[in-house]
Amino acid sequence: MEKLDILSLELPELEQAITDIGEKKFRAKQIFQWLHVKRVFNFDEMTDISVQLRTKLKEIFCINGLFVQKKLESGIDNTVKYLYRLSDGNFVETVLMEYSYGYSVCVSTQVGCKMGCKFCASAIAGFVRHLLPSEILMQIYETERQSGKKISSVVLMGIGEPLDNYDNVLKFLRLISDSRGNNFSLRHISLSTCGIVPRIYQLADLKLQLTLCISLHSPDQGRRSEIMPVSRAYNIHELMKACRYYIEKTGRRITFEYAVIDNVNSSAKDADKLAALLRGMNCHVNLIPVNRVKERNYRTARSAVADFAKQLERRNINATVRRTLGSDIEAACGQLRRDAAKNEKENGGADQ
Ligand code: SAH
Repeated sequence: MEKLDILSLELPELEQAITDIGEKKFRAKQIFQWLHVKRVFNFDEMTDISVQLRTKLKEIFCINGLFVQKKLESGIDNTVKYLYRLSDGNFVETVLMEYSYGYSVCVSTQVGCKMGCKFCASAIAGFVRHLLPSEILMQIYETERQSGKKISSVVLMGIGEPLDNYDNVLKFLRLISDSRGNNFSLRHISLSTCGIVPRIYQLADLKLQLTLCISLHSPDQGRRSEIMPVSRAYNIHELMKACRYYIEKTGRRITFEYAVIDNVNSSAKDADKLAALLRGMNCHVNLIPVNRVKERNYRTARSAVADFAKQLERRNINATVRRTLGSDIEAACGQLRRDAAKNEKENGGADQ
C-alpha cells in the first residue's frame, strides 16, 4: 500500500487516519504540532509518542522531504536561491529575499508550467507535474531551516501557475495558516496568476485575506495574447471583470504585475490603455524590468521602467517599481530548474 503523505494532511484528515488505526484522536494533534510547530520530520524524534505507535506511523505515513541540490547566494544583495530535489527526482526552485521588513520567500507550485508565457523561463522547460501541498509547504519549512531565518512573507510566484494547481494550493494555504499548527497569516501571502478567470471567481468567493497579483504585462488584448497564450482562453475584459468581482468580494486591493518590455508594452499608448483599464479600481501596478532569458530576446532599456512609472503617475495610476533582487544568480524563476533538467538528460542523471 502506498504510504500517506502526512504533511499534506489537514488536522481532521490526520485525526481520521489516526483513529482508523485504533489510536486516540488527540494523538493527531500531537503529531500535527511535531510537524508544523516543532518542525520535526522524523517519527523517531517524536518523544511523547510511544515507540509502538511510532513504528506504526512509519508503516503508514511518509514525510516528503526536500533536498538541496544547489544553493546560489547573491554577491549583490542577500538573495539566496535554492534548487530543491523532490523525492521523485524532479526539481523546484525557491528564492529567499531580504527586505527592510523581513524575509520573504518565493515558492514554486508546479514542476514546470503549461501556460507558455513567451518571456518566462519556466515555460521553456515545459510542464511535468503539480506539486503536492506538502511540497509547497516544505519549501518554506526547509528554507527556514537551511537559512536560520524566520520568514515573514510568502509569495506564490515561483515556477508554475498556482491557479492551475488550485486544490493543492488551497490545501497548502489552509495548512500553513492553521492556528493549531504553523499559524501563518494569509495577509502575508501573495498569490500570482496569469489570469485563469474561473479560478479567480472561485477564490474570490472564499474571501481569503491574501493578496492577489495578476500578471498583466499588456493592456491590449491582441498584444497580451501574443506574449501570454492564456489570454486567448480568457480575454482581458473577462479578466478585468473577474478582478473587479474579487475586489468587491474580498475588499482587498489587487496588484497588477507588469514587466516592462521594449517595443512590446511601454509606449505612451500602452500607458493610456492601461490607465483606462484600471481607472477607479482598488489596485496598484508593480513594474519590473524583464529578466533576460537566454532563449528569448526580450529586454528592458535602463530607464524604461522609471519612464513608464512616470507615464502612469501622470495618468493618476498608482505604480511602484519593484527592486530587482539576485540579478547575479539568475533569481528569475525557472532558469535553474531548466538547466538542471537539461543536465540530467544529457548526463544521465549525474549533476554532481
Ligand atoms: N504563473 C504565475 C506565477 C509565476 S510567474 C503568474 O503568471 O503570475 C511570477 C511572475 O514573474 C509573473 O508575474 C510572471 O509574469 C513574471 N515573469 C516571468 N518571467 C519573467 C521575466 N523573464 N521577466 C520578468 N518577469 C517575469
